[in-house]
Amino acid sequence: MGIQRKAIALVSGGLDSMLAVRAMQEQGIHVEGVNFFTGFCVEGHTHAIRKQDQEKQKRNNALWVAERLGIKLHIEDISEEYKDVVLNPRYGYGAHMNPCLDCKIFMVGKANAMLNRARELVADGGFDFIITGEVIGQRPKSQRKDTMPLIARESGAEDRIVRPLCGKNLPATLPEREGWIQRELMYDFSGRNRKPQIALAEKWGLDDYAQPAGGCCFLTDESYSRKLGDLWQARGHREYELDDIMLLKVGRHIRPAPNYKLIVSREEGENNFMEGYRKQFHTLRPISHGGPLTLVDGTPTDDDLLFAARVAARFSQGKHADTMTFQIEPKGGTAFVVSIVPIRPEDFDPKWHI
Ligand code: SF4
Repeated sequence: MGIQRKAIALVSGGLDSMLAVRAMQEQGIHVEGVNFFTGFCVEGHTHAIRKQDQEKQKRNNALWVAERLGIKLHIEDISEEYKDVVLNPRYGYGAHMNPCLDCKIFMVGKANAMLNRARELVADGGFDFIITGEVIGQRPKSQRKDTMPLIARESGAEDRIVRPLCGKNLPATLPEREGWIQRELMYDFSGRNRKPQIALAEKWGLDDYAQPAGGCCFLTDESYSRKLGDLWQARGHREYELDDIMLLKVGRHIRPAPNYKLIVSREEGENNFMEGYRKQFHTLRPISHGGPLTLVDGTPTDDDLLFAARVAARFSQGKHADTMTFQIEPKGGTAFVVSIVPIRPEDFDPKWHI
């Protein structure tokens, strides 16, 4: 009887990592998955909040993949350590704020640390290698033929990283040389064409998989990246807390002045979500007319809060009224009610939208 070889797979919840796991299971490898929570994950966030997305299934796709493939999934919160990846990417950013190459090195490095830890702790050697769903040419920044060895080297995984979907196009890895897996049973996918992956999923009877548009995290999103850049510029430093990056995912963000911005909820789901943050911000609520909750971030003066209420009024049912009443609750202060004049459309500068 040969030794049962074990691998740990990076599982994002998307199709590629799902197929990579399945390809190794086909070769008799025992696979466990690891999913990293960075705080920027698209996974189950806005569509779990917004009413307009209520039709979408609210599921954790990484867990769903684990369940479909019958593997154990480790979920690791790396949001604190990940800040350094976002703030100081050695290899820079992609089209937006996405530090994909550094991110991949970091995540494979974390998986490699798990592998080493398990090898020390488990008598039979723990995990033998790491699996990713990377495909050469799929992402211009991180998934190129020349970045694959770089990720392997810098993560410390060296030749214990296997990419089953494009392994035929890469140099042989340790698991191949040792005969734990067969090279000819891997794939030679390349480029952005998804058809081969879709065909393979069909062959294996895998359907209903997640199809993230753009990337697995919000950092690939132009509007999100702009809001993150604005946050750093307004604060004068490039740091963030988890709450900051969560709130960049919801509401309209409007900055009428450098010292404060409004976050105006767009619908009921967001309103309810933002209620949870009301003690951490100044809040504005229309009283005389229906309208959204607004959080004010920054260091507004009393006059700024009055002006912010006039701006928030534009998004309420009283936007055409001569006057409206608002409840303003300064952060850590006592709420009061004021009468304001909604700002006129011609006085609303479109550049305020972040
Ligand atoms: S899209 Fe986001 S999570 Fe995925 S590799 Fe790039 S930075 Fe990392």
